Amino acid sequence: MLSKVAENLKTSPTLFLVARAKELQAQGHPVISLTVGEPDWPTFSIPAQAGIEAIQKNITKYTAANGTVELRKAIAEKYKRDLGITYTANEVTVGSGAKFIIFAALAMILDPGDEVILHSPYWVSYPTMVELAGGIPKIVFCDEKENFKMTADQLEKAITPNTKGFLFCSPSNPTGLMYTKEELKAFAEVLRKYPRIVILSDDIYNSLVLDDSGIAPNLLHVAPDLKDRLVAINGGSKAYSMTGWRIGWAAGPQRLIKAMGDYQSQTTGAASSIAQHAVLAALNSCEPDIKNVLKILNKRKVAAMEEFKKIPQLKISNPDGAFYLWINIKSFLGKTYKSQKIETDKDFAEILLTQFYVATVPGLECGNNGYLRISFATNEENIVAAVARMKEFVSQLT
Ligand code: PMP
Ligand code: GLU
Repeated sequence: MLSKVAENLKTSPTLFLVARAKELQAQGHPVISLTVGEPDWPTFSIPAQAGIEAIQKNITKYTAANGTVELRKAIAEKYKRDLGITYTANEVTVGSGAKFIIFAALAMILDPGDEVILHSPYWVSYPTMVELAGGIPKIVFCDEKENFKMTADQLEKAITPNTKGFLFCSPSNPTGLMYTKEELKAFAEVLRKYPRIVILSDDIYNSLVLDDSGIAPNLLHVAPDLKDRLVAINGGSKAYSMTGWRIGWAAGPQRLIKAMGDYQSQTTGAASSIAQHAVLAALNSCEPDIKNVLKILNKRKVAAMEEFKKIPQLKISNPDGAFYLWINIKSFLGKTYKSQKIETDKDFAEILLTQFYVATVPGLECGNNGYLRISFATNEENIVAAVARMKEFVSQLT
């Protein structure tokens, strides 16, 4: 019955692990889930109210496939504020989550055999999305010695005559690390030499910079000349805690943005009218809410790092943004738990989940073996309890 694509398709590991944690919880196990990358605080009240209002006012019908004009204009204004770039409403498209927007962009730029440069550790879905869109992910491996970031030199070396796209995320999922302006300038110098490469800048965490220094550095801050081949992707999920509302968007060259809108018109139709109305309210009102959240997140980060330091064998990177800790657990690889050998971080995460009921994302799912991604968008008691369980686990390793 299934196509070859379907035969080879695997579930998103993050969403799979979330489902697994919930399943164990439903069986009565005391699971602490540090898996999913979503805020644990509610959708801010102004967009939540706007959503209710949309239903009451019957704003419940199809919208234009690329989103309402009001929302696209408000997004364009936000890009002007955040990136200093002027877009018209026709250079913006809105879709059902940034995840689909990234996929639509890939689907509209790739022909079979085209390559997209990604670097590890990457967001779990990037390689599969590239494949589903008919392309080939070209993954540049980055480890501690590069501070998990790709250098401009590595970028240039990965470029081949088949390179069509470069997709990256800053602050990063899974590490929370952020590219500096200087690093982005170096990328720009390389990219200027290869005008056929379309740049997909996944900015979904760019307003969650933990020291509250403002929007994360962006390629368009340092190289506005790349505007005509850069797609800037963002959405309501992380900044406004609206993951379930499913609204994402992109700004970029009008031909590509139009193609993405056409693609949406033939696939998902438009994003939810109710959610679009709610996000419109968020764009115009939530800056103070974000500031409050950043204070809380930064406190949680510091507390989580302190907690994990109680297990001295771990090495933890200090994230600049988002809400992830990227934890090196390499010193436990090769050890044994009750005659079970721990070869990879997946083995480690599996025992941690099934025996100690702490759910995490193994680094292998992001392309690097020997790590765990944990989300600290959860309360401090959960982190304290999770670390205590992990401490117990590692004390039993031989
Ligand atoms: N990019 C990255 C790096 C993410 O972590 C997420 C979170 N799911 C997304 C894009 C997509 O977010 P959404 O589809 O919820 O808008
Ligand atoms: N981006 C989030 C994560 O990495 C949400 C889950 C997903 O869409 O994969 O956990």
